[in-house]
Amino acid sequence: MITIRGAVLERIGASRPYSASRPLAVTEVELAPPGAGELLVRVEAAGVCHSDLSVVDGNRVRPVPMLLGHEAAGIVEAVGADVTGVRPGQRVVLTFLPRCGNCPACATDGMAPCQPGSAANGAGTLLDGGIRLHRAGQTVYHHLGVSGFATHAVVSAASAVPVPDDVPPTVAALLGCAVLTGGGAVLNVGRPAPGDTVAVVGLGGVGMAAVLTALAHDEVRVIAIDRLADKLSAATALGAHATYTPQQAVDEGVRAPVVIEAAGHPAALQTAIDVTAPGGRTITVGLPPPDARISLSPLALVAEGRSLIGSYLGSAVPARDIPRFVELWRSGRLPVERLVSSTVPLEQINEAMDQLADGTAVRQIITF
Ligand SMILES: [Zn+2]
Ligand SMILES: [Zn+2]
Repeated sequence: MITIRGAVLERIGASRPYSASRPLAVTEVELAPPGAGELLVRVEAAGVCHSDLSVVDGNRVRPVPMLLGHEAAGIVEAVGADVTGVRPGQRVVLTFLPRCGNCPACATDGMAPCQPGSAANGAGTLLDGGIRLHRAGQTVYHHLGVSGFATHAVVSAASAVPVPDDVPPTVAALLGCAVLTGGGAVLNVGRPAPGDTVAVVGLGGVGMAAVLTALAHDEVRVIAIDRLADKLSAATALGAHATYTPQQAVDEGVRAPVVIEAAGHPAALQTAIDVTAPGGRTITVGLPPPDARISLSPLALVAEGRSLIGSYLGSAVPARDIPRFVELWRSGRLPVERLVSSTVPLEQINEAMDQLADGTAVRQIITF
């Protein structure tokens, strides 16, 4: 048992601003040693992502208290029994959906999310159902098998992918959620061909990662769409060929064969559908509230031969896809570090959640 420092969500649905209501408390937590098939990781960097905010604001209902953080990377300090393929001293990317490797969903090569992994995530446990976090004898739940807003984490080896030492911690952390989700949607589902246009609706960390990954393709034109002018300027700086507000995109008749929705809002999905060209694919990766609904013209789907595809974790197989992203990063075609808008200490996690909710930051990174 070691004592770690982590950001624990004490209650759901606190009022804004979080800098005043402080739903997250940075406290000491007891961390049990890794069990069979598990790793102890010293966390180096963790990104603040919308899926953390969705637990804070109650859009994704999870048990509390929960140690948040699901986009993280660190150094393996110890391994439990039966761990192969990763050893102490290696840097690992932590991914937010463990893959059991044995269920029917895992047999789809990433197209469907692992069933036991999803069940464990919903219950706030590690893949085998265990809980390694406690505080004064009380259970503290795991967030998406990672709980990366902490100095250390115990995770299932199925939640970790080793990366070479030359991948910096910040880049490695972003590979685990933003890049795997947004970039995976481009590589695994969008699959743009030379001459195609990719439109991305919603320019948070995941959307910007989709923009960067699309830009890494030769002869692909990239359109970025967001309500906020600052986000559009940031996309232009990354190299997007054109930017629009949702209203402008619809008014000006923008259409693209590959459209990725990464805002997690039904209005954004509506925009994404509206700008999808005949024969095109609308790919949605955002996570709206569970009661969100959209209206859809079935006739447009049929008469224009279009498809609407949901993609969780970028339909990625992390052990297959993270090395692809590392290669793209190393070649200079995927400058992942440009997604980082600021680095913040763990103590400012509530303020970071405010920034995220305001849409004023692409990716804030907590470093340890
Ligand atoms: Zn995330
Ligand atoms: Zn599985």
